Amino acid sequence: MTTFLPTPEWLLLDWNHACIAADTLCIQRCGDCGQWRHPPRRLCPSCYSAQSSYQAVSGRGSVYSFVVSHRSRDLGWQEQVPYATLLVELEEGARVLAATSISPDRVSIGQQLNLRIAIRSDDFVLLWADDPS
Ligand SMILES: [Zn+2]
Repeated sequence: MTTFLPTPEWLLLDWNHACIAADTLCIQRCGDCGQWRHPPRRLCPSCYSAQSSYQAVSGRGSVYSFVVSHRSRDLGWQEQVPYATLLVELEEGARVLAATSISPDRVSIGQQLNLRIAIRSDDFVLLWADDPS
């Protein structure tokens, strides 16, 4: 069973295309002060610069928060319940949402993870978190 495929627009579409083109996780970075930010924004929240680019990141991060889903309206995800959806803080500082196949009872705040992209369409990548061990 396949899962719902979002159709990102505007800056989120640009971000998805950057990840697909690089075949790795990329994050928007300010061209003036260097701050990483996600989700993508037109202006830097620190220095208000409109200069930015999408750059590859390490993919290393830790669990900042997470929720556990016991039901899903998406039949593709319903087959996976219960599953955790993670808010991961990358070592570069940006926070991203990620899916994972790690059992919810094995997920904890601060847990170290590696993120990778899973290309789901020409316009959408799913971020996937794996246990580095
Ligand atoms: Zn900036």
